[in-house]
Amino acid sequence: MLKHDIVVVGAGLAGQRAALAAARAGHDVALVSKLHPLRSHSGAAQGGINAAVGKEDSVETHIYDTVKGSDYLGDQDAIEFFCQQAGPTVIEMEHFGTIFSRSDDGSLARRAFGGAGFPRTIYAADRTGLALLQGIYEHLGTETIRIYEEWFLLSVVVRDGRVQGISAFDRRTLKVEGIAAKAVILATGPFGRIYGRTTNAHSCTGDGVAAAYRAGAALKDMEFVQFHPTALMESSILITEGARGEGGILKNVNGERFMARYAPHVLDLASRDVVSRAIVTEVKEGRGFPGGFVHLELMHLGKEKIESRLQEICDFSRTYAGVDPVTEPIPVYPAQHYMMGGISTNMKGEASIPGLYAAGEAACVSIHGANRLGGNSLLETLVFGKQAGLAAAEFVASAPDTEIRAEDLEKETAHIQQLWNRTEGESPRALRTELQQTMDQLVGIYRTPEELFRALRQVRALQERYRNVRVIDRSTTYNIDLTDALEVGNLLTLAEIIVVGAIARTESRGAHTRLDFPARDDKSWMKHTLAHWTVNGPELSYAPVAYTRWEPKERVY
Ligand SMILES: Cc1cc2nc3c(=O)[nH]c(=O)nc-3n(C[C@H](O)[C@H](O)[C@H](O)COP(=O)(O)OP(=O)(O)OC[C@H]3O[C@@H](n4cnc5c(N)ncnc54)[C@H](O)[C@@H]3O)c2cc1C
Repeated sequence: MLKHDIVVVGAGLAGQRAALAAARAGHDVALVSKLHPLRSHSGAAQGGINAAVGKEDSVETHIYDTVKGSDYLGDQDAIEFFCQQAGPTVIEMEHFGTIFSRSDDGSLARRAFGGAGFPRTIYAADRTGLALLQGIYEHLGTETIRIYEEWFLLSVVVRDGRVQGISAFDRRTLKVEGIAAKAVILATGPFGRIYGRTTNAHSCTGDGVAAAYRAGAALKDMEFVQFHPTALMESSILITEGARGEGGILKNVNGERFMARYAPHVLDLASRDVVSRAIVTEVKEGRGFPGGFVHLELMHLGKEKIESRLQEICDFSRTYAGVDPVTEPIPVYPAQHYMMGGISTNMKGEASIPGLYAAGEAACVSIHGANRLGGNSLLETLVFGKQAGLAAAEFVASAPDTEIRAEDLEKETAHIQQLWNRTEGESPRALRTELQQTMDQLVGIYRTPEELFRALRQVRALQERYRNVRVIDRSTTYNIDLTDALEVGNLLTLAEIIVVGAIARTESRGAHTRLDFPARDDKSWMKHTLAHWTVNGPELSYAPVAYTRWEPKERVY
């Protein structure tokens, strides 16, 4: 039986940072990832990472902006800690070898991002995620971390009220194995593929979040789904907020800079929920371009700036939309981008089961509350990845041994066997497409009870059909049909929780906008939603928001 002190699942920024911290604390650490670590979605991050390092800026302002951005649902003690860690974290990454863009005076260049009082987003052109990922990856090699590359997590094994390890399979052999560990850190990243219009990579299917939920862990604030205002039409490839940070502007079909109506002070640099709602409203009220989009104009910035600061954006626009941002506007519309919700943890990354930890986009601490500010997520992966690694290291130092028994693998092995043996049944891809259509159409930026209930019925019907899902491909190595089937099961599990949470929350806050309850309701709803697995679907309960110094105010940009 495979055995380690700590198993980290997920090798994006959060998982790598956690593994490094735990290994440097002297423990035997394994890193399990369904992808090569450098192919994790963190590598797709474009715009940058926040830290108040400028003379005019302050940690205090970063805290305030994050609290306000969260629409007062973020935990203020966690946000304070998080923002205090920002400067040291960026410097540490620079020492790890990440090369950030520079200003003319040689200092770290910073760009303006939505909802931020000062330009505080530090970047490496528009490839920040990859630059960070490479920096940290090079350091993994300095420790004896066992990397299970292209292994797929199936379940978190819990017995006697504590974590015993995980079950997973090597994608090369399909053999289900147990890996015993005293602590498991889940850093499996986003689950945006619940939606069809998403900026997330195909691999972002929430496998770890779904596994934690099935194992009995609480998920938090799942109804809060962030839509990024500017994704390319058709492909939904992200056009970073950095494009507006560099001075890009949004225009409707009448040539109006319409953000003046929605955010008179900061215009295009309001927070993401505000700008996304504005674009949808413009299109709905007939001021969009035929086909339903608005324009993002960069032309006035000049060829040199566009091509040096926004290289990828140029490539993406030219290749996937056939427009050259140097001379033409970019057609954009909002797309799902980030999940504020995830495995409920505290500031140390501890989830609700002893020995279970989570970090990165799979987790919900919560610092983003009802709406995340751009640039805060890369920072979150590093700050809380490290915390989770350190906390798990402390925990295992005095934790008793664990084991995975043959019976712990029976359920997962039987599930795979069933998928394999079925000769007739549903195609995973068809189920996924139907789920994505349901969520795109019925659980978007503006929500109504009729549409949410319809979505719930449809998701549950798809879950029923999933019981009969089958794998058509017969190959026993790298069987993508099989991983597709497992991933769709996870997407269906998580979609249901999003919808149930959205139905229950009868207010509008951050990214959750209910047309029947258009106002924020602090008296009844300044609380986190928790979801637990039951045979009849998710059971909701609520937990208080930690609030210290910042009184809830109306959010105006
Ligand atoms: C296009 C795009 C641009 C973005 N730009 C920015 C930005 O500029 N600034 C910012 O702050 N944020 C940005 N974000 C958000 C931010 O990049 C992510 O929230 C963050 O990188 C997530 O990191 P992570 O380590 O949690 O997950 P990921 O980097 O997604 O890593 C997840 C890991 O889990 C592994 N995994 C998943 N399932 C399994 C399984 N079943 N078994 C084994 N392993 C598994 C994967 O192999 C992967 O290694 C962006 C997001 C996107 C999609």
